[in-house]
Amino acid sequence: MSGPILEVRGVSRHFTRHPTLAERILMAAGRASAPPVVRAVEGVDLAIERGEVLGLVGESGCGKSTLARVVTGILPPTAGEVRFEGRPAHQLRGRERLDYLLAVQMIFQDPFASLDPRMRVHRIVGEALSVHGLVPEAEVGAAVDRALADVGLDLAYRDRYPHQFSGGQRQRIGIARALAVKPRVMVCDEPVAALDVSIQAQVINLFLELRSRHQLTYLFVSHNLGLVRFLCDRVAIMYLGRIVETGPVAEIFASPAHPYTQALLEAIPRLHRRKRAFEPVQGELPSPLAPPPGCPFHPRCPAAVARCREERPELRSISTGRVAACHLLEKG
Ligand code: SF4
Repeated sequence: MSGPILEVRGVSRHFTRHPTLAERILMAAGRASAPPVVRAVEGVDLAIERGEVLGLVGESGCGKSTLARVVTGILPPTAGEVRFEGRPAHQLRGRERLDYLLAVQMIFQDPFASLDPRMRVHRIVGEALSVHGLVPEAEVGAAVDRALADVGLDLAYRDRYPHQFSGGQRQRIGIARALAVKPRVMVCDEPVAALDVSIQAQVINLFLELRSRHQLTYLFVSHNLGLVRFLCDRVAIMYLGRIVETGPVAEIFASPAHPYTQALLEAIPRLHRRKRAFEPVQGELPSPLAPPPGCPFHPRCPAAVARCREERPELRSISTGRVAACHLLEKG
């Protein structure tokens, strides 16, 4: 099948709370305004090619985890659409909808919170197979064993509970659960952020092995730029709910174009610069309740000009395979 395996077109995801009865009465009388809206994701376009590892990077609170949940179907978009293998995911029904939900699996940041503490490992890994009748009941046990072996877990542990494992082993259980249903895409939300550094390397290597063994496509959400550089083919930089730059990893790390990408890369601690002061991105991420007008990065941007405060830059091609949203990068 040609074309991207996953496409995000103009996707927004907003959160608001329902007004109380008293608030509704006050609103009807014109004495109160509607509850504020959190614009977690705003007008995102992304495409992930088959077999690709796309990194999604940004500061905490920029909307990357919300976008990951929209891509996997956990959250519906407020606007726009997610297309899986060319078909709009939100229009799929019945068996086709289930195929999409199984084909796009999510790996969560906190493996302990994502595993039912009352279930033994073989039930956790085999639950979706049984519930959806993906394999005959008599074959579920063998399928679970294959998934556990795939992630390097000793089959002797299959009857244990999640609390009897280390953090790295629990993440392997989460990966085995996803693998058991034969996904085509894995959406990994900070999958090693909660693990010890020594264990992180093992789990990252496992992701690489599984990619080639099962021809997997990854959307890899992380704030760890070193990890993204090592693991990903392309990277998308997100700021306050919007994508501000995308391109091949090697090119972005060699010559970041957007001022925010430049600031993020500048903030990576490096051994050869250890005598220089650590330079975090200046200022705070503005609230998604009230994003700044114009370019959302302008209150923190060292290159901002008057136009940046009034006009939001669109994502535009800046070279082959690269796009960025910055007035200073417009050609002509
Ligand atoms: Fe900075 Fe202006 Fe470019 Fe935004 S548009 S990143 S404020 S220079």
